[in-house]
Amino acid sequence: MISMPLKTLSLYIHIPFCARKCNYCDFLSFNAEKELMDKYFDALEKEISKSAEEYKDMTVVTIFFGGGTPSFADEKRVCRLLEMIKAEFDVSDDAEISIEVNPASAMRDKLFSYREAGFNRLSIGCQSLSDDELKILGRLHNSSLFFETYNNARDAGFNNINVDVMSALPGQSLDSYRETLSKVLDLKPEHISAYSLIIEEGTPFYDMELDLPDEDSDRTMYHETKRMLKECGYHRYEISNYALGPENDEKYECRHNKVYWARGDYLGLGIGAASMVRNVRWSNTRDIRGYVKELSALESSFDKIRENVEKLSVQAQMEEFMFLGLRLVQGVSLDCFKEIFGKDISEVYGEVIDKYQKIGLLEHSAGDKKYLRLTDKGLDVSNTVMADFLL
Ligand code: SF4
Repeated sequence: MISMPLKTLSLYIHIPFCARKCNYCDFLSFNAEKELMDKYFDALEKEISKSAEEYKDMTVVTIFFGGGTPSFADEKRVCRLLEMIKAEFDVSDDAEISIEVNPASAMRDKLFSYREAGFNRLSIGCQSLSDDELKILGRLHNSSLFFETYNNARDAGFNNINVDVMSALPGQSLDSYRETLSKVLDLKPEHISAYSLIIEEGTPFYDMELDLPDEDSDRTMYHETKRMLKECGYHRYEISNYALGPENDEKYECRHNKVYWARGDYLGLGIGAASMVRNVRWSNTRDIRGYVKELSALESSFDKIRENVEKLSVQAQMEEFMFLGLRLVQGVSLDCFKEIFGKDISEVYGEVIDKYQKIGLLEHSAGDKKYLRLTDKGLDVSNTVMADFLL
């Protein structure tokens, strides 16, 4: 019998609980009574088991516990979910297994438990090392708690740590942002995600009068990020993501997020979690009580918790291939495009590629010319360029 090539899958597990809502947060997260949290974990366990049956022909290569704040929940329940996943899915031996933690709740013992359970990558929500800025953001930690968490994580054996930082914060000066970055860089985490704050409708910040840095300062912070991180031995591999090591060294690049950008198959478990498997996309209900109720039924079916199920047309697949792939500094592979869609990229996007090449925002990779990518200038205005790839 001929064995089929391995099909790979990435898992995202949503833990929606937080001690308190931050002022800028528009993620699906909230505080909840212990009883509801317990029921949620019971439901998640059931979703894991049923999904493992559905996807038993696939090998899990990355797992990401995000939120919310996974570290706010009982670590025994979190670790038990991972144990179940390992027992019921086919998880590859070298899978990347990440968990997001918040310095306000990631106590030393918890970090040791995570490491012992098999988590091998930690993502710490630092955001800033100015206590004033953290207060304005509504974060529950201060800078010393961040350092404590970081050191505890190293003690627990985490040798692949991401630190999230944010720029363009209310009241933030360029010097203060530089100070945050340089203190983070002194620690030499393996990965840094650097985002600028976006004020989303429906968040407390949206209705507040904020002293936000102007557009020029925002741009300067963005350029400072690139400069300072490069100087300290990081390479940028995606618009907002940097990994320790020289260009093209993938060792510390986040494999899980790269699956999203490369349009690999991923399955999201828990409320609000998005999935895309074999070009079918859907998201789980955002209603925690509905989710718990459906999954506690003896013969629960996924139909009741999955919403917006959509089989992607070839056109939608091409669009996604382009605007997700162009987020990567490496760009999109011309060979992959041809292999997947049976056409040269120029047949579909010739005009728009020409337009942006002429003004220096797009280019072919040097030497082999096998990739089409945004130039440095193009990455700075990526949203505008990517929007033109919608057919
Ligand atoms: S910790 Fe994260 S998910 Fe929770 S409220 Fe703050 S920003 Fe939102």
